[in-house]
Amino acid sequence: MWNEFITDNHMHIDPLHGLGLKAVKQFTSAGGTHIILVGKTARDWGIEAKNVDDFQNAYEKTIHLADIINSETDAKAYPIVGFHPSEFIGLAGAYGLEHAYSLGLDLLDILENLYEERRIYGIGEIGRPHFPVDVKLLDASNNLLMEYLKRAADLNCPIQLHTEHFTEEKFDELFVMVQHAGNPKKVIKHFSPPLPTKAQECGVTASIVSSKDAIATAIKDSPHFLMETDYIDDITRPGAVLGPKTVPKRTLQFIERGILSEEDAAYIHQDLISYLYGIDMG
Ligand SMILES: [Zn+2]
Repeated sequence: MWNEFITDNHMHIDPLHGLGLKAVKQFTSAGGTHIILVGKTARDWGIEAKNVDDFQNAYEKTIHLADIINSETDAKAYPIVGFHPSEFIGLAGAYGLEHAYSLGLDLLDILENLYEERRIYGIGEIGRPHFPVDVKLLDASNNLLMEYLKRAADLNCPIQLHTEHFTEEKFDELFVMVQHAGNPKKVIKHFSPPLPTKAQECGVTASIVSSKDAIATAIKDSPHFLMETDYIDDITRPGAVLGPKTVPKRTLQFIERGILSEEDAAYIHQDLISYLYGIDMG
């Protein structure tokens, strides 16, 4: 049964550069109930990060923001944090690849502790840059991603991947990595194309940016996917991504038009979310 829960699986909230809690209130006013709150980069928090402590500091800010959302709005926020590929590339440029790589490995232990303490509900974003980089950096990003996938397998921890533009072939490549990493069960491809069955066959759950076309295409294929906006909450970049109301609006509109059944809505917004993140949604 659908409890009318509606989850945005990938949302950023930025109290320094964006609407902050107002964006969350827009989400709930449209019918949204749960948010997987993905940490912004350390720089977005005003931290020029170089070391583990700097990142830990940024992680604490995202965790604290989730607490504020939970106490001051009707939404339930579940924080996840990681090591964004653009941060990895930036650090490699500023301090050398070796420093950036070993920092990435050290952060894994911090993330493991936060996850075990249930202060975060998953790891992300981690992966590969969406812009072209030198082959050395790309190889290093893949090696680091492999280490993160292995740890996710050990911990049975959800992990949200940020990568270049994805296709069927890319899912096949990812499948090979997932197998080598020991088959982590909770790999989520953030910003996925509407290929839920293909993703699932490759051991991955697709999290699909909730444009009308993408969700209509996905649901014809399979309900095994998550919905997201990748809302970045930056007032200097309006329209860069979908707004905070998109997931609830799209869901309710598609139910009304009979494109999405309540059963499928329950699966997408409730069953899959509670399974992946270990959340008791009641
Ligand atoms: Zn994001």
